[in-house]
Amino acid sequence: MIKFLKNTLILLLLLFSSVSYAIETADSILNKINSSNGIEKIRARFEYSYIYRRNDKNTSLEHAELALKEIRENYPNSNLEAEGIYYKALPIYYDHKYEEALDLFVQSVSLAKKWKDHHLLGNIYFFMGSTYYFHYGDTDETFRYYNLCIEHSILSDNYRILGAVYSSLSNIYRGSGAYEKALELAYKSKENYAKANFREGLAWAAYTMGTLYYSVGLPEDAKDLYGEALSEYRILAKYSGINTGIAICLDQLTNVHSDLGNVDIARAYNNESIGLYKKQSSKAGLSVALNNKALLENSIGNSQEALELLDSSRVLKLEIKDVISLAGLYQNYGKILISLGEYDSAEDSLIIGLNYAKQHNQNKHLVNINKLLSKIYLYKGDYKKAFFYKDNQANLADSITSAKLTKSMVKLENIYEIESKERTIQNLEEQNKLKDESLKREFVVRRLLTLVLFFALTILALLVYFFIEKQRANRKLAESKKHVDEINATKDKFFSIIAHDLKAPFSSILGLSNLLVKDFDTFDKEKSRELIYAINQSSKTSFDLLNNLLEWSRSQRNTIPFVPEVLDIDSLFENIKELLNSNLEAKNINLRLNPHGAKVFADMNMMHTIVRNLISNAIKYSKLDTEIVVDYKIESDKIVFSIEDQGVGISSENISRLFKVDDQYYREGTSGEKGTGLGLIITKEFLEKHGGEIWIKSKPGLGSTFYFSIPHK
Ligand code: ADP
Repeated sequence: MIKFLKNTLILLLLLFSSVSYAIETADSILNKINSSNGIEKIRARFEYSYIYRRNDKNTSLEHAELALKEIRENYPNSNLEAEGIYYKALPIYYDHKYEEALDLFVQSVSLAKKWKDHHLLGNIYFFMGSTYYFHYGDTDETFRYYNLCIEHSILSDNYRILGAVYSSLSNIYRGSGAYEKALELAYKSKENYAKANFREGLAWAAYTMGTLYYSVGLPEDAKDLYGEALSEYRILAKYSGINTGIAICLDQLTNVHSDLGNVDIARAYNNESIGLYKKQSSKAGLSVALNNKALLENSIGNSQEALELLDSSRVLKLEIKDVISLAGLYQNYGKILISLGEYDSAEDSLIIGLNYAKQHNQNKHLVNINKLLSKIYLYKGDYKKAFFYKDNQANLADSITSAKLTKSMVKLENIYEIESKERTIQNLEEQNKLKDESLKREFVVRRLLTLVLFFALTILALLVYFFIEKQRANRKLAESKKHVDEINATKDKFFSIIAHDLKAPFSSILGLSNLLVKDFDTFDKEKSRELIYAINQSSKTSFDLLNNLLEWSRSQRNTIPFVPEVLDIDSLFENIKELLNSNLEAKNINLRLNPHGAKVFADMNMMHTIVRNLISNAIKYSKLDTEIVVDYKIESDKIVFSIEDQGVGISSENISRLFKVDDQYYREGTSGEKGTGLGLIITKEFLEKHGGEIWIKSKPGLGSTFYFSIPHK
């Protein structure tokens, strides 16, 4: 149920969209012609011309000619010209001006060939084939052009024209009695129209199939198929306004119902058909409908009227040079004249019909005409002739049922030619498919190879990368080993210096104390005190040195705890001043502290050592009665401290030696104070632990300023 609803909905949507689309089509194309330019405009003119090719030949011709003019002016020597000529030929063809149309088709073909426009060639060859069949009755040429049509249409996937050419061929085979082949071709036609999604074509295929069933004596089936085609054409006509499809179905339904004895229904269909043809002023159509009306009237005894109707039909057929249906027409004359008892006139008509039928290989007509002729001679009592025609009839009927004979009559070679062409084209298609597949395979292989190559290159790149990385790591290792070696060498040197430095005070302590032990009694009190004082000084020096050494080694081993905290700078300075007061007094030095009430985030003990070292150095190397200024400045990211003295100063050459462990530079203070040469090294290390720096500005003889910074948080 749901599926049914869904399908119905889809169908309705499709119908609605196609109806509204078609209503808009002609108008919107006209709009496009008026609003566009260049090739777009030309294409729109083609479309417009095509729509009206049958029903408004003047409009159709006008737009095709305008398009051609625009092409020749603006796009000379382009493939558009071939198309333009083709579109111009169509209304002329439908206007039954076959010579003129054929001329144009030939012109178009020679241009289309130059551009290898298979689609267009397929179209043109179809019309050329049809021209030769319907209007010259030349089956050889017809088959030749239909063959070419099939060839080019398959090459260009022109399914629509394939649908048309197969249906035309089906009709030709049907006319010659090759019903099986006709049926096969009718199916092919339907298949191609379906592929082209061409609704009108599908209606036409149902019609073709109906005619085939009618010919083999299955009017019921034919009636259904014509009915199917008719309702489809009625839907299409609602929005195309083109009633030709309806009319041809009405014609066939007239005949079928007439045969089935449904005279009223047949007449209704016939009247509707005549009305439509008159409205369209279609001579071809009207000639068919009048012919049908004649048969209908004759079947109910209105033979005189029937003959008049046939006359009208014949006049029209001759006007439009419809030679192919003349055999049928004269056969009908014969039939009616026989029913009127006018055997001589009937005989004349049938002989004319016989010649037309022979000329166009219309076997079905030949059989019927022979049958009627035999009948006439039978009535006339000419049994010899009656037998002759009866015999002809029987042979022809045989040939229709016998596939072998039929084929020979309808140009066997043509059938094979078509079939072999189809096979060649199929082979070509298969070859193309194979080629496509091998190309596809090649593509896949190429892609795989590219992938493999890509991976191989990636792996190679990785290997190279790892190799370089390893080399770099080795180099780094070698470098750091060199660095460690250097540090070790530096430390070795440092220890040898320290050992040497320690040796001096100890030798003096030992020497002096030895002297005291050995010759104590010989020394007076003053001399003894002098010696003891010297021993004390040396002990102090070595103690200081040991102390500094210990502190440095702890700092080196990172065993000194680093606990930064917020310290009040001014009070730190005050404390140290207090501590060093006696040293300041001894040299009568004024230590000026510039307080700013700021705090620093630092380790208390380290900060204390740093400041004490620098101030005591300043005192040590200051002259008597001078001033030392301690100050600090707060910058955006750090606090910069300065200790300025008016002492001996340091040459820039010696400044660069100050912080080197393996090249200790030191001198005695201004009052002969001894140094260790380690104080500044320890100071620098403690500062580095805080992320700070130390630098010096000094002029020998004038004084030094020691600066250091601590990051400000
Ligand atoms: P010490 O002072 O124990 O010798 P330091 O490492 O503190 O060791 O100082 C190393 C050397 O730097 C000193 O011997 C001295 O020559 C020089 N020096 C340090 N401070 C000053 C200063 N304020 N003025 C002049 N020279 C200084």
